[in-house]
Amino acid sequence: MMRLFRTSIVFRSTFVLLTIIVLIGTLFAAYSYFTALRHEYEHGRERMIDLLSTVENTTSIACFVSDRTLASEVSGGLIRNKDVRSVKIIAGTDVLAYSERKKISGNAVIKMPGERAATIERDVFSPFNAKEKVCRIVLEPDQAFLQNEAISSAQRVVFLLILQSFLLATAVVLVVIHIITRPIKNISDCLHRLSPDSGAQLELPIGNEHDEIGQLVGDVNALVTSLVSTLDEERQLRISHQIGEKKFKTIFDNTETGIFLINTGGTVLSYNQAFLRTLGLASDLSEQKSKSCLLEALVGQEMRLHLMIDQALTNGQAVGEDFSIDVAPNNDNKWLNIVISSLEDGVFQGLLNDITSRKAREENAQHLAVTDHLTGVDNRLGFDLELQKLAKEVQHDSTIRVFLFLIDLDKFKQVNDVYGHEAGDKVLIHFTQILRKTLRKTDFIGRLGGDEFVILVRDLDNPAQAEKIAKNIINRTSVAIPISAEIAVEIGASIGISFSHGLAFDREELLRQADEAMYEVKRHGRNNFRIFSED
Ligand code: GH3
Ligand code: MG
Repeated sequence: MMRLFRTSIVFRSTFVLLTIIVLIGTLFAAYSYFTALRHEYEHGRERMIDLLSTVENTTSIACFVSDRTLASEVSGGLIRNKDVRSVKIIAGTDVLAYSERKKISGNAVIKMPGERAATIERDVFSPFNAKEKVCRIVLEPDQAFLQNEAISSAQRVVFLLILQSFLLATAVVLVVIHIITRPIKNISDCLHRLSPDSGAQLELPIGNEHDEIGQLVGDVNALVTSLVSTLDEERQLRISHQIGEKKFKTIFDNTETGIFLINTGGTVLSYNQAFLRTLGLASDLSEQKSKSCLLEALVGQEMRLHLMIDQALTNGQAVGEDFSIDVAPNNDNKWLNIVISSLEDGVFQGLLNDITSRKAREENAQHLAVTDHLTGVDNRLGFDLELQKLAKEVQHDSTIRVFLFLIDLDKFKQVNDVYGHEAGDKVLIHFTQILRKTLRKTDFIGRLGGDEFVILVRDLDNPAQAEKIAKNIINRTSVAIPISAEIAVEIGASIGISFSHGLAFDREELLRQADEAMYEVKRHGRNNFRIFSED
């Protein structure tokens, strides 16, 4: 019952309405009962007074003439009224007539509130003198009868009131159930069964299309429609997000580029398998080791990584650098390109690529660009780069002294002319070997073009050592060079030497001086050397 009261709006509203109506009905019924009772009782007494008035004249005559028979007629007539209990006509002390109705036993008389004396008395005056009192009529009403009449009348009123209340209550309850609570209950039941993502709509109750219930159903349906479309959108978004995530996960897992996250200290926070592969690390690396693996791989170059992190943080742009590292297990040298960009607070995204082969190709191309393809020594470009390098070194260390040997072969053109170009090539290759034999590996040998060579020698204590080198070259070149089994050619070498003086390292001047010295040699008979001097 209590559960029904809590859970059913129909039951609760019916119960409350009925309780209120019963309470009010009871109050009104009680009030009406007592009002009707009093009214009926008063009405009975008034009727009796009216009765006395009708017999007053006859009684006056009977008393005036002291006619007992007439007086008895009057009292007998009065006693015939059901609500009269007894009638007494008294003249002075003499009772002219007395009539009494038999008392009905068992009828208890209830005293009415404010009830007056039970008997009704009326003085009767002479028919000829209105001031002369001739007798008195004492009428005793039948209280029990009067009361019964009043109670029946009051009960009728109460019965009618209860009937009215009952009909009214039924009508109100039916109206409330039919018009308000039942449609609300139906909507509530429908809503309860409604699955929000199915898109099902509430049925609009007939007759409620334009009232508040219709508005409620419309609003709920609009809400369901909007909810369904929002859910649909959300589902679509989730699906596309999942697909995107899957794609990125596949790319993340299968790409050959190492992808990783690090913090400002260079500690690795997460990574893909390519990251470990590129660093030559096992795929089942422990979490602890993985944190420090990048810094360990870049041992000796950690500062460069920290600088990159700082730069990425300050500029908000990606920073890339190439690192040369030795990779386990065979300590193979690898070139790695690392690109770092700031992702969020204190976290950086990194890309790691193995660029060893690209570096090798670059180095190879660079080597080809600076190498003389015939002899394998540096060409003019290589010589220029070497001079630039030297110039930088001298700026940092002014004690460096460099000797430059400019060598032009003597009578080389003749070899070409007599034995052909290929014979000339052989001579050039042979002469290169002479230079290699004469010099240390650290010395620079270059061919500027034709039969013109250049040598850069460092760390010579004095010009005498340069002279010694020049003599060695000349002596070895003077030995006949075999071109074929039968043919050997003789050439010579004219060498001009210049050297740098500390910080005053002027590349062009150095070359000009050596050139001048070399032409001096040519002018003075060839196959010799000369150290440039100002005089
Ligand atoms: P000089 O004693 O005055 O130096 O005279 P030379 O005969 O040595 O003549 P010169 O140095 O003026 O000429 C060098 C020649 O080298 C000219 C050119 O035909 C030749 N030559 C240049 N490049 C090559 C090459 O790659 N191979 C060959 N075989 N000959 C070359
Ligand atoms: Mg020459």
